[in-house]
Amino acid sequence: MTKNTIILKAKQIKQQQKTQAETAARERAAALEQNAEYKANAANIVTVQIQIAKNLAYKKPVKTEQALLKVLETERTQILKKLKVNPADLEPKYTCKICKDTGTANGKYCKCFTEIINKELNALSGANLNPKNTFANADLKLFKDNPNMQKAYKLMDEYCKTYPHTRSLIITLVGPVGVGKTYLVEAMCNALITRGFVTSFLTSFNFNNTCLKYHTTFDENKFTYLNSLLEPDFLVIDDLGTEPMLNNITKEYLFLVLNERLLNKTPTILTSNLMPEELIERYGERVYSRISDKQNATIVNLGIGSKDRNDLRHKK
Ligand SMILES: [Zn+2]
Repeated sequence: MTKNTIILKAKQIKQQQKTQAETAARERAAALEQNAEYKANAANIVTVQIQIAKNLAYKKPVKTEQALLKVLETERTQILKKLKVNPADLEPKYTCKICKDTGTANGKYCKCFTEIINKELNALSGANLNPKNTFANADLKLFKDNPNMQKAYKLMDEYCKTYPHTRSLIITLVGPVGVGKTYLVEAMCNALITRGFVTSFLTSFNFNNTCLKYHTTFDENKFTYLNSLLEPDFLVIDDLGTEPMLNNITKEYLFLVLNERLLNKTPTILTSNLMPEELIERYGERVYSRISDKQNATIVNLGIGSKDRNDLRHKK
């Protein structure tokens, strides 16, 4: 599935939600028409509304009609009350109140739309992003003894706000287990999803598996796997170094994906418990040359007390 196919699918889903909400509302209204009093009132309201429109077209006064409409509307409220019907139930109940299930708001994709895209991408990659892990929900007090982590949260928050205007196309966040790397990258993904960007979050295990599938599939689905890594606006590979090292796959495709995304100027974020020298040892010079490239990449040490601290600020 390519990004365009996913977008098309998301559009179909929104269209379906919209139709469903509107059909259900029409059906609820039609059911009410069984009631003679309601039906008569509804017909009167339409007649007066038409009269108002006509008068306006001929520049005639509408004061009497507007007063009558008000009376009819009050009557309607009373009838609905008697029938124990909530007036809001006659309106379509859209899945998304912001865009009324059109999928766009203020000239761009609505949040609900990018959420669908993200879900599809996650389904494809097998990842499970927690939507509650956001910068706003992050408790920086947890890092009161780790200034590197506090600084990283602020810088990454800023990074996501100004994305895609960034020079850091490959960011590698290194630090010990439990320092909070995964929460940080999930917050980044959620921030960008909210801004309408297509993001993909993968554990290194799932990344490895996706590459394995690409490598070993020889049908029409083959490129689906590679495209799911190359096409997202933003790709996270979490916990690099915990995946099994597969011959001809792990190192090779990590390089290919980093390199292709670099050429496309779409950022890739890596997290790892490994320190830079261990990353060179495991993935080789070629991969390391990409993640340590001074022009386009940044390695951020989130641990404390390490010698090879490479501060993000050098890139600002
Ligand atoms: Zn929406």
